[in-house]
Amino acid sequence: MALIVHKYGGTSMGSTDRIKNVAKRVAKWHDAGYQIVVVPSAMSGETNRIIGLAKEISADPDPRELDMIASTGEQVSVGLLALALQALGKKAVSYAGWQVPIKTDSSYTKARIASIDDAKVSADLADGKIVIITGFQGVDDLGNITTLGRGGSDTSAVAIAAALKAQECLIYTDVDGVYTTDPRVVSDARRLNTVTFEEMLEMASLGSKVLQIRSVEFAGNYRMPTRVLSSLTDPLMPLAEEIISGTLISFEEDTNMEQATITGIAFNRDEAKLTVFGVPDKPGIAYQILGPIADANIEVDMIIQNQSVDGKTDFTFTVPRGDYNKAMEVLNESVKAHIGAGNIIGDAKVSKVSVVGVGMRSHVGIASQMFRTLSDEGINIQMISTSEIKISVLIDEKYMELAVRALHKAFELEAA
Ligand code: ASP
Ligand code: MG
Repeated sequence: MALIVHKYGGTSMGSTDRIKNVAKRVAKWHDAGYQIVVVPSAMSGETNRIIGLAKEISADPDPRELDMIASTGEQVSVGLLALALQALGKKAVSYAGWQVPIKTDSSYTKARIASIDDAKVSADLADGKIVIITGFQGVDDLGNITTLGRGGSDTSAVAIAAALKAQECLIYTDVDGVYTTDPRVVSDARRLNTVTFEEMLEMASLGSKVLQIRSVEFAGNYRMPTRVLSSLTDPLMPLAEEIISGTLISFEEDTNMEQATITGIAFNRDEAKLTVFGVPDKPGIAYQILGPIADANIEVDMIIQNQSVDGKTDFTFTVPRGDYNKAMEVLNESVKAHIGAGNIIGDAKVSKVSVVGVGMRSHVGIASQMFRTLSDEGINIQMISTSEIKISVLIDEKYMELAVRALHKAFELEAA
């Protein structure tokens, strides 16, 4: 019997009425002959609320205790959903991560899944039960409860689907799929029927918030077909329609992709840029600048080092805006201590806009079309970075939405 994993986000689990709707949908799938494992998030707002309580007591809460607290939202969800399914006459059983168990490492608040034991769950499924497992949480080797980072239920669901060799992982959320860009910025953004795993990975890392990036990595590593679809439709809609709705994250060679060179425009508003001027152009400099930044646990994204003039060069890089002040401090110290370079300047009002598409591999001229479009709008490009399937530019944040709209139009991504 085919096994399907369903994941429901916080909005979908947001009230007891919504949970009853989730139960109806799950029961419908079960009635159609599928084995079902459900992985819900905490009810919307709940994780924020309980983390807020911790912060009322401590400005810098002990991460172990924070995970003990943060993980409880999902425990309420699974119990409520089990009750709702039982009320519909289904056999349903809920488990916390440690009961499965879902083993993780011990990095509290951002733990990584190490293994998932399928024995108990498989036995329940064989017994006709619907199994409901908490998203977001796991347990380390010593029995401590861990969480997988905010938005981590997506990762739980895909990892559970992979461990149980499910046919598909369905991520039910408050949007009906993955769009060419954020519909709040471009009103005629179009829903994609399919997106390749690689494109999804780029879009997730470039700022699209539909899925937690690690869940996409799991989907890719285990080749788990994963579909993003709406939980806000009629829970009793015909299964045949539901099965093909949303956006399927696919593996390029398996599907007939939509014929477009560019698949989407991603953006990230919250970037910041730091530049060190007059850096001596000699071995070890990049490491001396970026090593301390990495040691401070700050993620560096784009990097540019200019051609040197008279043995000196400029070195620019970007970091998430939330880390800007810290990065500036670290940079000031390390430059003073080791490099003896000139000025440091920064700009925390920059945004990154990217065009993404596997079609880039087989089409030339995407970069020039992108740059022409931005130039036509009078938008200055501060930095550029590329991969095989994306081109990103850093621009003044004032022009971010304008750039996204212009590029969406230039690459003809709008709905027909
Ligand atoms: N409840 C957790 C959070 O709010 C995990 C999730 O929703 O995916 O981040
Ligand atoms: Mg989420």
